[in-house]
Amino acid sequence: MNSLSEVAEVIKKARRPLISGHVMPDGDSLGSILALGLGLQTLGQEVTMVSSDPVPDLYTFLPGAEQIVVGKVPPGNYDLFIALDCSVIDRLGKYVESVLNSEITTLVIDHHVNDNPFGHYNYVEPKSAATGQIVMDLLDLINIEIDNKLAINLYTAIVTDTGSFRYENTTPEVHVKASRLIDLGIPVSKLSNLIFGEQPVESIRLLQVALQSLEISKCGQIAWLSITQEQVQSVGAEDQHVDGLINYPRKIKGVEVAIVFKELNDGMVKVSLRSKYQVDVNLLAKKFGGGGHVRASGCTLKGGLDQAKKLVLTETQNLFRGC
Ligand code: 5GP
Ligand code: MN
Ligand code: MN
Repeated sequence: MNSLSEVAEVIKKARRPLISGHVMPDGDSLGSILALGLGLQTLGQEVTMVSSDPVPDLYTFLPGAEQIVVGKVPPGNYDLFIALDCSVIDRLGKYVESVLNSEITTLVIDHHVNDNPFGHYNYVEPKSAATGQIVMDLLDLINIEIDNKLAINLYTAIVTDTGSFRYENTTPEVHVKASRLIDLGIPVSKLSNLIFGEQPVESIRLLQVALQSLEISKCGQIAWLSITQEQVQSVGAEDQHVDGLINYPRKIKGVEVAIVFKELNDGMVKVSLRSKYQVDVNLLAKKFGGGGHVRASGCTLKGGLDQAKKLVLTETQNLFRGC
């Protein structure tokens, strides 16, 4: 593992960096890419920002989002590959993964639990609430001024990964950083509305369908939703609209572990896991080849919805006596 100043030195020397986040990008992944990417542009670096999956409509307001190249890596003479909010190769997605077959130097900056990140240089700090929090320190170390555009991206990264400063990862440092960003004049209330306050009608229709699948374990500590592709399509929704549904089983009083099972197009099942106080859902997801954080994690399983539910629920129930 490297220090953040070592990482800063590597980045400073780059001329043509290629920056990526993870598949199905979220606010932290996108906000981090854009804050660092736009920041390095002010130093005159020729920055290319890529994403294997499209930018969800929700995040197209982020300053610079239109610069993110989706679903391919344009040919270029890149001298540094920077992975943000992602320290395992398969979460880069198929379009970006191919870059790693070349000789390019790789640098990983992340806050997921991972003792074995894939970069030549790695800075992984699970105590950070968001990768955006680390990027903010990095910008300071490189002496890049945080302007309004960078501030909006950094704030979005932090506010999304802390669930609006409500999750356990919300430390005093998070508030200090947010305060500095707010001081720069970002439109906090408007951002809250854009990110949390308004949802496309497809999301609400999907919620309507998804809530009918709600199941709760006998002991009341595990609650889950199951969503089929047919349901997603029946309301004209897309995979991006599934994000956030996990908050509903999580909200139920007495529930410790909330799970969403989502059937994907290719017969795979995406599993999202959240816990409130006790269960380490990172360990749970790891049993199925996934990962994440102690309170929020995920994995992707083969073999259809019923099998995924059986496997994951059995493992989860094993954590509770008589559940
Ligand atoms: P979500 O449920 O919102 O997709 O993901 C929750 C957390 O778990 C995120 O921090 C995400 O990066 C991580 N995560 C989700 N799916 C996977 C996965 O398949 N593999 C790994 N390693 N992490 C995942
Ligand atoms: Mn993320
Ligand atoms: Mn993150």
